[in-house]
Amino acid sequence: MQIHSTVPSIRSAIREARGAGKRIGFVPTMGFLHDGHLSLVDSARAAGCDFIVVSIFVNPAQFGPREDFSRYPRNEAGDKAQLESRGVDALFLPPVEVVYPYEFVSKVIVAGVSEPLEGDRRPGHFDGVATVVLKLFNIVQPDVAVFGRKDAQQCAVVARMVRDLDIPVELVFGETIREADGLAMSSRNSYLSSAERALAPRFHEALVAGATAVRSGGAGVEGIETAMKKAILACPGIEIDYLRLVDPETFAAPKDLDRDLLLVGAVKIGSTRLIDNIHVPRASGRRQHGTE
Ligand code: AMP
Repeated sequence: MQIHSTVPSIRSAIREARGAGKRIGFVPTMGFLHDGHLSLVDSARAAGCDFIVVSIFVNPAQFGPREDFSRYPRNEAGDKAQLESRGVDALFLPPVEVVYPYEFVSKVIVAGVSEPLEGDRRPGHFDGVATVVLKLFNIVQPDVAVFGRKDAQQCAVVARMVRDLDIPVELVFGETIREADGLAMSSRNSYLSSAERALAPRFHEALVAGATAVRSGGAGVEGIETAMKKAILACPGIEIDYLRLVDPETFAAPKDLDRDLLLVGAVKIGSTRLIDNIHVPRASGRRQHGTE
């Protein structure tokens, strides 16, 4: 696996691969890799990519002043070994001054979908995400870029940016990879103490309770959100930030329930903030609240 830390160096490697007729796949990450990240490498390959670039960059611009930037977990040696064994062709590992040289002032703002929920709780977060993703797209110029549905609002922000700005990249969204007990894999799970880790699957169970309420019909938005909240309130030790039913493209409340729906949530367990979601595709014949 090639390792590059400057823009000219990764660009020349990609130019060479493209010259050899390769299809370039790109998986941006913040490192401390787990099977969720690695599944995105597999998705890039399944999308026909034969030169796969992974970036590891803990992007300061997407962390708020009181967030966990300085203690975000890192494991460079372990990450390299995992990527190598997954057949990744090139790792882009830029230092912060390569991505944000002195006097960097530009910012990408994707209005609308970046504003509610995560955007509201983490002001500026999605500006930081959109800016670094556009910058990485310009550096790598991939044919295909893969993101995980675990960060569903991030997927919607990136999709909107690609559409609005005519960025010539095909987006692929990989399914959320979970631990055996349902907890979505996340680098931040490493913050949990063993007692907190034991509580964490209850978060996913609450989203499943919401999905069950959607599928069985008869409940409106409020009833579905209450089903999720009840499941968490039965579990002292988990604090709800939000648990909502939204339209997966806009992240606004759905106009009706006869469509694709997304149950999204954020909770705090101790000092660790976790996010997760479940997508419930539109089902023909799904019973509607108030229609019986
Ligand atoms: P991160 O390193 O947390 O910024 O994540 C890098 C990419 O991996 C993002 O596209 C995430 O959505 C994705 N990702 C993180 N966790 C998972 C997971 N459990 N399953 C699938 N993709 C994930």
